[in-house]
Amino acid sequence: MASESLKILIVEDSKFFSTAIRNRLSELEGIESFFATNYHDAKEFIIQNDGDFFIALLDLCLPDAPDGEIVELTHQNKIPSIIFSGQQVRDNLDYYYGMGVIDYVLKESPASLDYTISLIRRLLLNRQINILVVEDSTTARKILCEQLSRQQINVIEAENGQVALNKMAQGRNIHLVMTDYNMPEIDGYSLINRLRLKYSKDQLPIIGMSSHDNSNCAIRFLKLGANDFIHKPFSYEELLCRVSQNLDIYNLIEELKVSVYMDSLTGLHNRRYMLEHVEELFISKEKNKEKLVVAMIDVDHFKNINDTYGHHVGDDILIKLSENMMRRINNKDVVARFGGEEFCLLIQDRELDDALVILEKLRQAIAEDYLEFKEEKIGVTVSIGVCSERKGDFSSMLKMADNALYKAKNKGRNCVVQAE
Ligand code: GH3
Ligand code: MG
Ligand code: MG
Ligand code: MG
Repeated sequence: MASESLKILIVEDSKFFSTAIRNRLSELEGIESFFATNYHDAKEFIIQNDGDFFIALLDLCLPDAPDGEIVELTHQNKIPSIIFSGQQVRDNLDYYYGMGVIDYVLKESPASLDYTISLIRRLLLNRQINILVVEDSTTARKILCEQLSRQQINVIEAENGQVALNKMAQGRNIHLVMTDYNMPEIDGYSLINRLRLKYSKDQLPIIGMSSHDNSNCAIRFLKLGANDFIHKPFSYEELLCRVSQNLDIYNLIEELKVSVYMDSLTGLHNRRYMLEHVEELFISKEKNKEKLVVAMIDVDHFKNINDTYGHHVGDDILIKLSENMMRRINNKDVVARFGGEEFCLLIQDRELDDALVILEKLRQAIAEDYLEFKEEKIGVTVSIGVCSERKGDFSSMLKMADNALYKAKNKGRNCVVQAE
């Protein structure tokens, strides 16, 4: 999320809806909302803020502008707008979409508000999304790009499959591809074939497009690995719904990927991350004869903390400890919560002696730190087992570090012990 908040203008004369919108908008991070109840106040907000609104949410019937005049106002000020209105305006929709309106939501049930909020959330996320549009017709491509930009998406254009592959190879961070079928050089089918060799459906969603009349084209696209298909010519609204749907799934999977590898209490990587990602790192380090030190860190007598002060104090200590470790390690190094009160630290490209100095400093820092709880200072110590020997794979290194940790416990705890 961008650190500077984005401004939203809400123009709504009904107190009921205005309150409901206000409540729901508070769910979203990184936005600042301005509420106007009439045309005049909306105009004032726009002037005061130099038109700097990310989007506007507009009721069409206002006490001083009963006929949708507010849409012209936001249009003149280049503010992308969502119409949220109790009026059926289907007949006028082309007129409004022609003015760059993002979407029209009929205010009819609580579900309409849900839809609007998820749309705004989508638009916020879209600012980080890059779509590659692959289409040989210049006119069709320009229209599509404009319609996507309106949804706050960043667009990259390619006039055929070959150009698309070149752009992908440039390492641009592309999150979704929309591709036409019939194109010179490399067509849509071949493009998907090539992209799917490298990117799975959840890594890179692809939407196929074609104006062919039969359904074969859709089937072919989907069987080749497209996530979705859209028939040309499509309405702006269909485009919005399909793109949003595919991006929602994409973002959900991205979130899941993060959470699968994250420890929810401390925000550190978890054991799964360590075991799956570090094996790769281990192999490349081995190949390049680069140094790698593994340390297992375990809190001493942690059970006592829980028994004496309660589980939540134990949790707070684990959080504090994690922050302490994060602060003291290098960017390159990796720390993970391995189990309950056990952490694994990977130190890269350092001689064992240097690594031991770092670990000794970490041990001391932890021993000196404390958590304040009901005017009491609660401190903990840790025992650390270290291994720098490469014998076998990563798990053998872990085992050796674990044995060293066991020795550190037997030695009386609060110390660093090297594996033999
Ligand atoms: P030692 O010095 O031998 O490591 O003693 P210890 O008490 O730290 O070791 P033991 O393995 O007996 O106990 C670990 C304790 O850690 C028991 C468990 O309740 C606690 N623990 C594990 N996960 C969590 C957690 O997420 N939060 C809290 N508060 N406690 C946890
Ligand atoms: Mg074509
Ligand atoms: Mg312990
Ligand atoms: Mg333990």
